[in-house]
Amino acid sequence: MSKTWKIETQAVQGTYAPKPTEPRIPTICQSTTFKYDSADHLAKLFDLDLADPFYTRLGNPTADAFEGKIALMEGGVAALATSSGQAATTLSILNICQAGQHMVTASTLYGGTYSLFANTLPKLGLKISFVDPGAPIEELRKAFTPETRCLFAETIGNPGLNVLDFEKFSALAREMGVPLIVDNTFPTPYLCRPLEHGADIVIHSATKYIDGHATSVGGVIVDGGKFDWTGGKYPELTEPDASYHGLRYTEKFGPAAYIVKARAQYMRDLGATPAPMNAFLFNHGLTTLPLRMERHSANALAIAKFLEGHPLVTWANYPGLESHPSYALAQKYLPLGQSGVLSFGIKGGREAGVKFMEATELIALVVHVGDARSCVLHPASTTHRQLTDEQQVASGVTPDLIRLSVGIENVDDLIADIEQALQASQG
Ligand code: PLP
Repeated sequence: MSKTWKIETQAVQGTYAPKPTEPRIPTICQSTTFKYDSADHLAKLFDLDLADPFYTRLGNPTADAFEGKIALMEGGVAALATSSGQAATTLSILNICQAGQHMVTASTLYGGTYSLFANTLPKLGLKISFVDPGAPIEELRKAFTPETRCLFAETIGNPGLNVLDFEKFSALAREMGVPLIVDNTFPTPYLCRPLEHGADIVIHSATKYIDGHATSVGGVIVDGGKFDWTGGKYPELTEPDASYHGLRYTEKFGPAAYIVKARAQYMRDLGATPAPMNAFLFNHGLTTLPLRMERHSANALAIAKFLEGHPLVTWANYPGLESHPSYALAQKYLPLGQSGVLSFGIKGGREAGVKFMEATELIALVVHVGDARSCVLHPASTTHRQLTDEQQVASGVTPDLIRLSVGIENVDDLIADIEQALQASQG
């Protein structure tokens, strides 16, 4: 195993290295618990002196294989698999932001994340400021307070599809002395590795491209291992933890302090653990991720170009289109492709949009993206329906917006399906 491997090799080989007679691929370790012979050995595990598995809520060999591989692919020091993308987002923040403290987030977010930040985390006492990620740095600076503990953004906003200006956001995070947490669900580490562009923590909804086959809900947090937690703002990492006999995470775990704490405290207490079967499928999914992302991106670009020139389409939104406001950022940060999600406005607005979604045959109307099979959705009436009109617009959703998650089918078949559905939408 080597960090010099290219990402395609990392995706296939990962960190799992079987010894003679052991299974070639990590098996599904469907066991709650693990046997030990001595109380002393178990004591060392509970004291975090050893990292062997002892109870699946806190760690499992199948999850470990997935965590090792995704950490390798993102270029981080370690990872923590979670039961969903939402759990990954929640834990990534609670780990460093307490009641009474504050965080700043780009407003262009997945609807569930927006709702978590606008409704649920504030109920726990966190203060959250939403900013327009396109605003100049002087404006963004004003959102920070002495209590700000992190900056959050999506690499590609879902569903607005704006590409994050990493240079601006990472400079801002550095200046403010807080980590930049990036949701990298849409690009995956094959198309973009945020840690190489100044992010400190990466999260994913593994449910999407990592699984890639619409089988399992899950998430993961990857720790870049470079953020300096010792400046005084994060006593929960640098001062003794009463729930672990006074250990100090930064002292004991160095660059992995953040991710060990997330596991030892929050996974222990909140229990958002992935099932071993799901961790197996995520690890499996990663094996073909580079190939799939190439095809998703090529198909999406071809369809975006087809839609852009179509008389029944009022606008097309895909960061790979030269007309897209994020085109330059996409070329800079996503040079291998801009992933499989695109959106467009249909002539005839909301009514035509509903007819279009009901008329597609190959492309299924489902609440999902990142599947090998193509999917279609109207976010304003589904994923973003809990938001007010103003919140929808702030998160990049307009009433006529149709979102396509372009799969890895033959692109000619997809274009034929879109063409017939566009014609049907006008009837
Ligand atoms: N982040 C992004 C960008 C998403 O698109 C989603 C789900 O669609 C999530 C997070 C939440 O992930 P999950 O559905 O796995 O909880």
